[in-house]
Amino acid sequence: MKIICIGRNYADHAKELNNQVPEEPVFFIKPDTALLRNNSPFYLPPEDFLGEIHYEVELVLKINKAGKAIPKQFASRYYDKIGIGLDLTARQLQQKLKEKGLPWEKAKAFDFSAPISMEFIPKQELNIKEGINFSLEINGKTVQQGNTKDMLFDFDEIIAYVSKYVTLRTGDYIYTGTPQGVGRLNKGDLLKAYIEDRLMLEMEVR
Ligand code: ZN
Repeated sequence: MKIICIGRNYADHAKELNNQVPEEPVFFIKPDTALLRNNSPFYLPPEDFLGEIHYEVELVLKINKAGKAIPKQFASRYYDKIGIGLDLTARQLQQKLKEKGLPWEKAKAFDFSAPISMEFIPKQELNIKEGINFSLEINGKTVQQGNTKDMLFDFDEIIAYVSKYVTLRTGDYIYTGTPQGVGRLNKGDLLKAYIEDRLMLEMEVR
């Protein structure tokens, strides 16, 4: 099982990090040891180790069929459920690695850097055509709000693109990118992630 993450898929977020809006999808992979399930708390790593940890709320596709070089018109057959997750990022470390032109793995793939909702919603229950709303609340305040119609690359384009390079397998997850409003996690924060009005993921920072 692998976790594929799409970077810079919402223009307003790419801009807030001073990144160019990409012409083709940007993706990277987290290992299965990055998953944090069952609304378990997240323990902040020592700051002198990874620096600041930032949250990025993202809709997550659950792949239900193996495929390689999937044509876009068939891509929707390869995922059946949508959940929500956090792509936790050691932002200062990522910045340093980016400046040096090095891979981001240390800043993105560390243990428990991919909290994920327990529940996934069957895709037929969501209005993918009209756009799906999702959001993140920290300590009762909404900090990120997105709608999938603002994605630069939609779900089908992502699946078609990624599967040209990497075979998708049943059980893989695709984190589909984050909207504007990312920020730092602090000890004691309580995070709640929603798809439409449905509370999907709760996570305490310790
Ligand atoms: Zn992300």
